[in-house]
Amino acid sequence: MSNNHNPAKPLQSILAIMAHPDDAEFCCGATVRQMSDAGADVTYIILTNGDKGNHNLSITVPELVKTRMKEQRAAAEILGVKDVIFMGEEDGFLQPNRELRRRLVRHIRKIKPDLIICQNPEMFFSGDRYINHPDHRNAGLVVIEAVFPAAGNPMFFPDLLAEGYEPHSIRELWICMAPEPDHKIDITDLLDVKIQALRQHESQFDDLDEMEKWVRERWSEENEAGEQRYYESFKRMKFD
Ligand SMILES: [Zn+2]
Repeated sequence: MSNNHNPAKPLQSILAIMAHPDDAEFCCGATVRQMSDAGADVTYIILTNGDKGNHNLSITVPELVKTRMKEQRAAAEILGVKDVIFMGEEDGFLQPNRELRRRLVRHIRKIKPDLIICQNPEMFFSGDRYINHPDHRNAGLVVIEAVFPAAGNPMFFPDLLAEGYEPHSIRELWICMAPEPDHKIDITDLLDVKIQALRQHESQFDDLDEMEKWVRERWSEENEAGEQRYYESFKRMKFD
């Protein structure tokens, strides 16, 4: 199993902050499992309640929200995630506003992660068939705005400091779905686990086998030796 971090200073505390239940499994599920296997503490923050993730009008919104939380917890358990925090914002209308930034800063100062994994705020489109969900962009934006400068600067949100939440600066930020990723994690050994975690989000897929087929194609790449491998890729920012 590859470990691309500096072994002298392992990334011990990991926080993945995503817009919807299931985003983390797509973006970084196998990477998360690799890190939790290596002894890291991984936490998820899911910003929205996922209440638009359905086309079946016979299911009520509270039922759907409850189902999606249950599915997210089951997926997180497979990946060794210790805690899942649901922020409860409305699906589809996520806004990187001052209050959400404040709530995130509070969690970042409390959890004190070495690494945050987030979505790409710059991605409007991918290829010629996919418009990126606006929540994904806004999730990425509110995360980077919380990371810098607010989380590490005591002048931001003095009420949080008064509550005992000291400033915290993360060591690394990894951004998923970056157009030119510079950090690739070989997940070949963990592809089945990634798929198993994705399969927990049963409410999100009409056909789980089709989803699995797509994941196997989408994350497949040939390495330099011409072998078929699977990778999760990131833009990696290092601050220390
Ligand atoms: Zn999503």
